[in-house]
Amino acid sequence: MTEKISPQLIFEKSGAQKQAWLLPPSSVPVQSFTELTALNLLRKEVLNFPEVTESDVVRHYTNLSTRNHGVDSGFYPLGSCTMKYNPKFNEDLVKIPSFSEIHPLAPPEQSQGSLRIFKDLEQYLAEITGMDHMTLQPAAGAHGELTALLIIQAYFRDKGETNRTKILVPTSAHGTNPASAAMAGFEIITVTCNSNGLVDLEHLQNLVNQDVAALMLTNPNTLGSFEREITTIEKLVHSCGALLYYDGANLNAIMGLVRPGDMGFDLVHLNLHKTFATPHGSGGPGAGPVGVKSFLNQFLPVPVLTETEQLLSWNYDRPKSIGKISGFYGNFAVLLKALSYIKALGGPGLTQASRDAILNANYLRIRLQEYYEIAAPDTCMHEFVLKAKLPNHIRAIDVAKRLLDFGIHPPTIYFPLIVPEAMMIEPTETENRFTLDSFVARMIQIYTEAAESPEILSTAPQNTPVARVDETEAARSPRLRWSPVQD
Ligand SMILES: *Cc1c(COP(=O)(O)O)cnc(C)c1O
Repeated sequence: MTEKISPQLIFEKSGAQKQAWLLPPSSVPVQSFTELTALNLLRKEVLNFPEVTESDVVRHYTNLSTRNHGVDSGFYPLGSCTMKYNPKFNEDLVKIPSFSEIHPLAPPEQSQGSLRIFKDLEQYLAEITGMDHMTLQPAAGAHGELTALLIIQAYFRDKGETNRTKILVPTSAHGTNPASAAMAGFEIITVTCNSNGLVDLEHLQNLVNQDVAALMLTNPNTLGSFEREITTIEKLVHSCGALLYYDGANLNAIMGLVRPGDMGFDLVHLNLHKTFATPHGSGGPGAGPVGVKSFLNQFLPVPVLTETEQLLSWNYDRPKSIGKISGFYGNFAVLLKALSYIKALGGPGLTQASRDAILNANYLRIRLQEYYEIAAPDTCMHEFVLKAKLPNHIRAIDVAKRLLDFGIHPPTIYFPLIVPEAMMIEPTETENRFTLDSFVARMIQIYTEAAESPEILSTAPQNTPVARVDETEAARSPRLRWSPVQD
């Protein structure tokens, strides 16, 4: 076995005589710091910055930049997250100075072009989702959920139905759904699901009553199955006067194929940073626009963008609005990328993207089902869930860690909660046959290793800069700072 040499931190490379730059003596006289000293603001000791050579600095940052796995470095089938390739063209576009340098407080008469971008995007998204009006303000999926729930609350308050304090959430829902409902002050009632993750209609029927404000649903659900009984669900929910809310983070599965508005949903949020060309992960800027049917229009957050004689302006005069929910009108660059992506693909292109996403997911499902049990064995939409329960106590976490050794980002594991040893795989439409086949080959290899050499799996990963960490310890007491004396 070769000895493992752990890489040096930049602080450890530091040496007193090392320097990256030698500047000529300054001709500017040194200022006295008496004022700072008097205020006791002057630092007493020299900061412990590393002193390294230029080549060390360059190598330090270059090496760091390769430590992270991204969509641009390899396959990233992270279920529910839609880590698809985002065309670089969209990035170039938002860097054009007339977009990037416009001041957010520029008066509308000087920023008609930017406002037109907002308006066009609102209209495209309304068309794609089958909604009547959109707001682009929310900055993330969960933020969109909260916005929609506040709209639902405002609607029922306006009607005087203050008894509607409950939100129905299926067990298969994304964790943000109950969290957002709780944040908006609702009581969460859980709806059970069958083995395909589909809503248990009988249970739903027993739960709908005059106290319910809405059902939050994602379709396809988190197992990748389409709710075929959606029209029955719609009737059940609406028959008691409640609203139907669509978690549209998974729109990648249905663009151009079916619309939430046509399925009977009253409100929807989208994740532009999943479906519409913004790279994401690590909490980068996002966009979670919310669409509503026209009877909810008056409750949308202010401002709304109104058009009179082809001039766009901000309208704050909306007495029933839920108010402002973020700075300005959302993340402009993310919104612009989404518009650029929609226009580049066009209607047929968006439909093709969804069709290809579904095709890729089903290809992987069929190829893997010989080795792994699939949670919902029917045809899936853009993703599917398998049970990574292998011989010799090998579990989903071991499979995930082993995939890291092969330069593959593991799928989402242990979600949805209703599937034991869940592994949720979303290949997306941007991966080709070669990548999918390579992934299958690695999954088969892991299946064989579980029987023949399980220790490879239980101690994986071997090839990554950091070996397996104690997940609990890493989350509860992370050591994020270096100090010369390690504790
Ligand atoms: C990602 C996701 C969300 C939350 O979106 P964020 O932008 O991370 O807040 C909500 N619902 C579903 C189904 C998702 O996949």
